[in-house]
Amino acid sequence: MFNNLSDRITASLKGLRGHGRLTEADVDKTIREIRRALLDADVAVSVVREFTGRVRERALGEEVSKALNPAQQVVKIVHSELVEVLGGATGEFTWAKHPPTVIMLAGLQGAGKTTLAGKLAKWMKGQGHTPMLVAADLQRPNAVNQLQIVGERAGVPVFAPEPGNGVGNPVLVAMNGVSTAQFQQHDVVIVDTAGRLGIDEEMMQQAREIRDAVNPHETLFVVDAMIGQDAARVAEAFRDGVGFTGVVLSKLDGDARGGAALSITGVTERPILFASTGESLDDFERFHPDRMANRILDMGDVLTLIEQAEKAFDQKEAEKAAQKLASGEDFTLDDFLAQMQQLKNMGSIKKMLGMLPNMGQYREQLENFDESELGRVEAIIRSMTPAERQDPKLLNGSRRNRIAKGSGTTVQQVNQLMERFKQAQTMMRQMGRGMAGGGMPGMPG
Ligand code: GDP
Repeated sequence: MFNNLSDRITASLKGLRGHGRLTEADVDKTIREIRRALLDADVAVSVVREFTGRVRERALGEEVSKALNPAQQVVKIVHSELVEVLGGATGEFTWAKHPPTVIMLAGLQGAGKTTLAGKLAKWMKGQGHTPMLVAADLQRPNAVNQLQIVGERAGVPVFAPEPGNGVGNPVLVAMNGVSTAQFQQHDVVIVDTAGRLGIDEEMMQQAREIRDAVNPHETLFVVDAMIGQDAARVAEAFRDGVGFTGVVLSKLDGDARGGAALSITGVTERPILFASTGESLDDFERFHPDRMANRILDMGDVLTLIEQAEKAFDQKEAEKAAQKLASGEDFTLDDFLAQMQQLKNMGSIKKMLGMLPNMGQYREQLENFDESELGRVEAIIRSMTPAERQDPKLLNGSRRNRIAKGSGTTVQQVNQLMERFKQAQTMMRQMGRGMAGGGMPGMPG
């Protein structure tokens, strides 16, 4: 996410280090570099101008000249101005006082609305809500079907037009959907609407009619971050044509350059509420301007990392594992497999590592990180018999051969895994002894 922008801004700020006092020339050089980096990241010119103007004014002011570490102070200024450009405080999401909370999704075709409907529903369901999806995109031939698939993956019901019941009329479908949700006591309704490839009046008219019919508490404008500052222009058209309360940036993974995220709030004065970061339903997060600024300045985003770990972490499994360890029972390949699965639940390892501070310098290793490794380990363990998993000593040459064939790997890869498992087992034994003794291994009690 924003790799290039991040590398260039951090590099130019590093250039200030070691200067005891900063001269106007030092500051101007850094600002020039930041301005160029922002323009190359496709940030709207008006936003760049205002941003660099404010940073310059503050960097030449008292807060820097009086600071013990002027270079560090400039980093702080850039950080706080980035937070402002990204929207300031985290945007509030409005829940209805009297449920259901009605959410309407709007945006161009291909922006990621349907995918987002599933992500939003899954996220809300995880928080104890009971969302329902409504398929009011009747423009795209496959849209209703796609929403049904997404709903199934998210484990939430989908209201779709039935033959003879408002077919072809998205406004009716949206209204029926919301009243059905109300009747069935769902506390959230997410209405997916049609988009076009470009902005057109007919689409805006339809969206307005749906809006007036269902009276949404939140209208979310979904926009593909890859289109850069164009996102701000499309957002303006939607703001004036339909009106919306919050923005969702989709496709922030990939090579999004930052132009959309950094231009949109300044231009539309609406907060970015959520970010969509991949094709899986879990690639979704609340958008926090301060955390995003941390990521851009390569300070890491440890808070989001912890939240994702908590989400994936199965408390019951963890307690079982801890009890097992403390009771002196051995760590088996089945336990190893369960751990792998928890790790996989956390999502892309590459993405997680990218949230640690100062990872910019390891960008290349990160890019080359092989995500399929976990899948390979899983395939190998699953190709073993239950007896082999309990007692790896059974694994002689011919069994390893069979396992390699069964899992589509090589004997060498099976051997490597067994080596690593042995190390993990030794570590777990030590931890088990430590826990039975009432403390962590190697730590005085
Ligand atoms: P809609 O026309 O607005 O409903 O857009 P869709 O939800 O159908 O998304 C269009 C395409 O973008 C699909 O192929 C999605 O899988 C993909 N997509 C959606 N969100 C993301 C995202 O956050 N990252 C990536 N990489 N792809 C996405």
